[in-house]
Amino acid sequence: MTETLEIKITKADETRLTVTDFSELPFGKVFTDHMFTADYEDGEWKNLQILPYGPIPMSPAISALHYGQAIFEGLKAYRLPDGKISVFRADKNFDRFNKSAARMSMATIPEEIFMQGLAALIAVDEKWVPNQPDYALYIRPVMFATDPYLGVRASDSYKFALLTTPTGPYYSSALKVKIETEYTRADEGGVGFAKTAGNYARSLYPFEQARKEGFDQLIWTDSIAHEYIEEAGTANLIFVIDGKLVTPSVRSTVLDGVTRDTIIKLAKESGIEVEERRVSVKEVIEGIQNGSLTEAFAAGTAATVTHVGQIGYKGEIYQLTDPSIRNISNGIAKKLNDIRYGLAPDEFGWNW
Ligand code: PMP
Repeated sequence: MTETLEIKITKADETRLTVTDFSELPFGKVFTDHMFTADYEDGEWKNLQILPYGPIPMSPAISALHYGQAIFEGLKAYRLPDGKISVFRADKNFDRFNKSAARMSMATIPEEIFMQGLAALIAVDEKWVPNQPDYALYIRPVMFATDPYLGVRASDSYKFALLTTPTGPYYSSALKVKIETEYTRADEGGVGFAKTAGNYARSLYPFEQARKEGFDQLIWTDSIAHEYIEEAGTANLIFVIDGKLVTPSVRSTVLDGVTRDTIIKLAKESGIEVEERRVSVKEVIEGIQNGSLTEAFAAGTAATVTHVGQIGYKGEIYQLTDPSIRNISNGIAKKLNDIRYGLAPDEFGWNW
């Protein structure tokens, strides 16, 4: 049996819950009253604590700031009809966190610290888990290198933190996305499969360029010849081609999304054929033109399923079907949300 860890709890003097407007929740800006932190020093994790959310004192020489040893995760807790709280597939996010840590030469975190820290933090800030349809508590695990040393080498010390922020409904109309053929998000042999800070930093400039051209998001392509589709912005991309779910296979340049994996399992369960393979840009453009590609959506924790409405490629705009008639993706999105909110049986044991 896993031992129960000792977590020091220092409560905030007063809650900000009473002055928080849940009808106006910008994503990721309103934090709950507390956070969980732990420190990796001298080869072990210590100082497990829950404390009021706020600034963390640190040296300006910490190596995370200079050399980018920083990783994060994103998952959500949902309020179930009986009032209990469920965290969706936390084990998957825990596994991916440590995969990212290993790739970035960082300390890994023991499962009991991640899970017990999360359970204890949610218990302390229990009232912050929204009780309205389409709301959730977004959880942001983060770890960064804290050696105050300017030499380039893996840090010996790290800080791990869990931050939580209530989020409201993510209403987004179908996206106008651009197939990116100049910049890349990830390269062969690189760190694309890891949720590390630099992957997001490097995507900002290409994204800004696409925004200026009137696009909402980018579709990333491979770094060798921009021939194959990889992901959409910060989500995985899934197509419906000839009635089958088709999605780029997970590889070193593609993040192994929890939502993607969940959707694949739900589709297979309901008898929809799924193909995980390389998907070429040519196949997508031709599929739109000949009508075999009927649906396309981005899949991620934040948005669940966000339809792609238009695809831009080499100066042309390709129009996809009306999202309201996309039966496969709308059906899967509903099923997934029903399980998350405890409105449908959790046959896969995903709610923790
Ligand atoms: N790809 C990237 C690059 C992402 O940042 C995310 C968001 N974590 C995803 C895909 C979707 O992953 P998930 O379904 O686990 O949120």
